Amino acid sequence: MSEEKFDAIIVGGGLAGSAAAYALAKAGLEVAVIERGTSCGSKNVTGGRIYAHSLARLIPDYAETAPLERKIVKERIILMTGTGSTAVEYRDEKLKDDSCASYSVLRAKFDAWLAEKAEAEGALYITGIRVDELMREDGKICGVVADGDSLNADVVLLADGVHSLLAQQIGMKKDLSPHQVGVGVKEVIGLDEKTISDRFGVLPGEGVACLVAGHATGGAAGGGILYTNKNSISIGTVVNIGQIGAGEGLKVPDMIERLKDSPTIAPLIAGGELLEYAAHLVPEGGANMTPELVGDGVLIAGDAAGFVMNLGFTFRGMDLAIESGHLAAQAIIKAKEKGDFSAAGLSEYRTLLDNSFVMRDLKHFRKMPAFMDSPQIYKEIPEVAGEVLGSLFAIDGSAPKKLVKNVTSILKSKMKLTTVIKLASKAMGAM
Ligand SMILES: Cc1cc2nc3c(=O)[nH]c(=O)nc-3n(C[C@H](O)[C@H](O)[C@H](O)COP(=O)(O)OP(=O)(O)OC[C@H]3O[C@@H](n4cnc5c(N)ncnc54)[C@H](O)[C@@H]3O)c2cc1C
Repeated sequence: MSEEKFDAIIVGGGLAGSAAAYALAKAGLEVAVIERGTSCGSKNVTGGRIYAHSLARLIPDYAETAPLERKIVKERIILMTGTGSTAVEYRDEKLKDDSCASYSVLRAKFDAWLAEKAEAEGALYITGIRVDELMREDGKICGVVADGDSLNADVVLLADGVHSLLAQQIGMKKDLSPHQVGVGVKEVIGLDEKTISDRFGVLPGEGVACLVAGHATGGAAGGGILYTNKNSISIGTVVNIGQIGAGEGLKVPDMIERLKDSPTIAPLIAGGELLEYAAHLVPEGGANMTPELVGDGVLIAGDAAGFVMNLGFTFRGMDLAIESGHLAAQAIIKAKEKGDFSAAGLSEYRTLLDNSFVMRDLKHFRKMPAFMDSPQIYKEIPEVAGEVLGSLFAIDGSAPKKLVKNVTSILKSKMKLTTVIKLASKAMGAM
């Protein structure tokens, strides 16, 4: 047993863990991060685009050194059918403002950078070792057992990702139900910088984020993602685990193949070289899956706390992970000042979270997961959009139809009017 006692031990060197480590070490606390991957970033998967606001609060000059791929200046939402797609594209100079800047990132580089920042402030990183259990003394968590060795600390922060088996072990988190998690499959496809900029119609350094609903998942609740990096494209699919087998009953690995082979996406990635293949779970239950966040000597942050919002038009987890890690650090610093690491002494974390965008936004979109389960989003709606626009643009010499009549008859052929009304009202309620 090690004699050393840390102020804080953090389990997981992802974004939540390293954000907390950075803030704690900067405040002069002795902090150790234990990461089971051989390096920070090696086990972590994202789509991925990071909204930078929470990183800017943690490290105001982040843009000078962070490995950011491209600044996202264009958003594309694509409704896909087997033969085509309908897209909404949004581009505005506003997206370049520092206040709402977002960037594509690759986690192997990005997480390593954040860990280096924390190390430079004095945090100790122990990589390649898994924490197997938490230690308790008089009911309070007082350290961890990793690789047969025990390490003591006043407080343990669980930033160990979506499963958080450790939080489950100590009864702070229930086992995940299939409807609360999605499985993501992602490839990174190498292409040269200019080809990417030309294909997506952006200037050097600028990037595009695309979210896709429809054909790729074969009617199951989920979708495609595509982000442009400097010299590569991140592409993938995420499907709710409870929905696997729904619709056409596609297997998860087949979904990404469908996306890549679709007439809309294939030309964008043509000639690219597969650099990386990854799969990972992602929380999808929103505010409805928040576990106990504070216990005696223990806190939970990031995906471990279920802090992800997949809204169909945006996908956010990294900004919530960084903010929750940062806030956990602030609560730990306060607890150290008071010398009280009990649940009451750490309860400031809950208050800070409640007053932050994390809980505000999760609560605001509380009904979104239920709306996102609506099967029509993934089949009938892309088909209706495609057929309506097809009737306008595919000119074959036949007689034109009155637009409203045509839209109504296409809609009616796919869905009952009551389903359309219910869906619209569900969407309004969820936003
Ligand atoms: C396919 C996909 C697409 C996504 N797209 C986006 C996106 O575009 N934008 C966005 O903001 N978010 C996105 N997300 C969500 C985002 O990636 C997560 O919210 C984010 O990674 C959470 O960070 P974290 O630090 O909480 O958890 P993680 O990054 O999962 O880190 C947890 C760490 O804990 C370590 N660990 C676990 N157990 C132990 C243990 N017992 N001992 C030691 N170490 C342990 C793991 O190895 C890991 O490094 C996406 C997720 C997926 C899967």
